[in-house]
Amino acid sequence: MQYVSTRATSASASRNPETFSSILLGGLAPDGGLFMPAEYPRVSGEELNAWRKLPYAELAYEILRKFATDIPDADIKALTAKTYTADVYRNARAEESASDITPLRTLEEEGGRKLVLQALSNGPTLAFKDMAMQLLGNLFEYALAKNEDELNIFGATSGDTGSAAEYAMRGKRGVRVFMLSPAGKMSPFQTAQMFSLQDPNIFNIAVEGVFDDCQDLVKAVSNDLSFKARHKIGTVNSINWARVVAQVVYYFRGYLAATTANSQKVSFTVPSGNFGNICAGHIARMMGLPIDKLVVATNENDVLDEFFRTGVYRVRKSSETYHTSSPSMDISKASNFERFIYDLVGRDSERTHALFRKVETHGGFDLSGGPDADGDEFRRVGEYGFVSGKSTHLDRLETIRMVADDYGIVIDTHTADGIKVAREHMTPGVTMIVLETALAAKFNETILEALGTDAERPAGFEDIESLPQKFVLMRPNVDEMKTFIAAHTGL
Ligand SMILES: *Cc1c(COP(=O)(O)O)cnc(C)c1O
Repeated sequence: MQYVSTRATSASASRNPETFSSILLGGLAPDGGLFMPAEYPRVSGEELNAWRKLPYAELAYEILRKFATDIPDADIKALTAKTYTADVYRNARAEESASDITPLRTLEEEGGRKLVLQALSNGPTLAFKDMAMQLLGNLFEYALAKNEDELNIFGATSGDTGSAAEYAMRGKRGVRVFMLSPAGKMSPFQTAQMFSLQDPNIFNIAVEGVFDDCQDLVKAVSNDLSFKARHKIGTVNSINWARVVAQVVYYFRGYLAATTANSQKVSFTVPSGNFGNICAGHIARMMGLPIDKLVVATNENDVLDEFFRTGVYRVRKSSETYHTSSPSMDISKASNFERFIYDLVGRDSERTHALFRKVETHGGFDLSGGPDADGDEFRRVGEYGFVSGKSTHLDRLETIRMVADDYGIVIDTHTADGIKVAREHMTPGVTMIVLETALAAKFNETILEALGTDAERPAGFEDIESLPQKFVLMRPNVDEMKTFIAAHTGL
């Protein structure tokens, strides 16, 4: 299996295909594109039948080995077995089985319409990012040990990504994490989750400023290429290919658990921000998984809903990005979207490059086929199963109440966006699976507003705010940041 850049041209810096291991630790391709498999591995009906009974870790092994063909099978098997255990995904609700890893739960079954929730948020940080990040931690440790190398992950977070990265990398040999967050701006719960980690390879840096200041610091340090190389600086953002592959697994798992024969189809609704999660659904579909619709659910930041309704992709300025009660979907542009557009335009990398150059120069592109449009490929979106919808704060409150009243469970705000939009796209005879991307305890403020009671906390999280916290407070100053990193990498 080889990987190509979505922007590869005969003249570009990434015209040569790469292996899984060579793109594992990196981010963007050198030409600014995203890595994609040169072709999708196909899964046969016999394989699907055989996979129906597999435990999650073995299913992950079967799928990963199709993409990571340069890693020995026995090593992949050991890595997936270590990652997908009931011990890691132990925050399953009382009525769920932790060993299912991503347990399904039927909310509604009426007149051939079936609504199912797939729990992806039972990992250590109570959000779906653990599904991929925990595997990434083990893959990184494995690859670094093999090459006798080390890696210093440097990033900025306003919540979910940073904590998932830290819980995946804590205690891993060869890896350090330097994570910036805006001082005093995260919820007390999220702050406690990150800052209570005492591992010597985890460095929490609270920056006196807002999230954009943190991101600017990451950019400034990363743009110093010699510093970056000398200190082996890397990232773990949502464009990382291995994260996308790890997410492909739970679409297969959800399908196989919800069906009894391959003639049946399911749809997935996915609370979306950077298009990482649902991009994995697209890949599963391209591999041959019988998915009917892929429903993109957005919050008030509706960049993606606008595209899937109109064919116009129009990124927002950061000043136009709303701070919502489903904050992990507050994005101004969707960093994985280029992967889908590459397929939509027939894998034409020159054209993909031109479209995303236009995003930088003109703030977007238009594939609607209208008089001044950049193309008419939007007419093909339906062939890929995509539809979309949007949910607002009021929808979220209403949905959280409705789900609590009707089905007796408390869902988080992002999942509420998913359920709201899923109900607009149900078809008789096709099971609708909504991906549960976080547990309610993480977003208690809105739960309290909706229900008048606190969200239940999983065991071990009851008193998290009172644990001792380890962090340093810094000013948003590039030189001081570099000095801090240099002092702790020992390179
Ligand atoms: C990251 C996140 C999302 C959005 O996922 P994308 O891959 O960026 O589309 C949705 N919900 C929660 C809880 C998240 O943490």
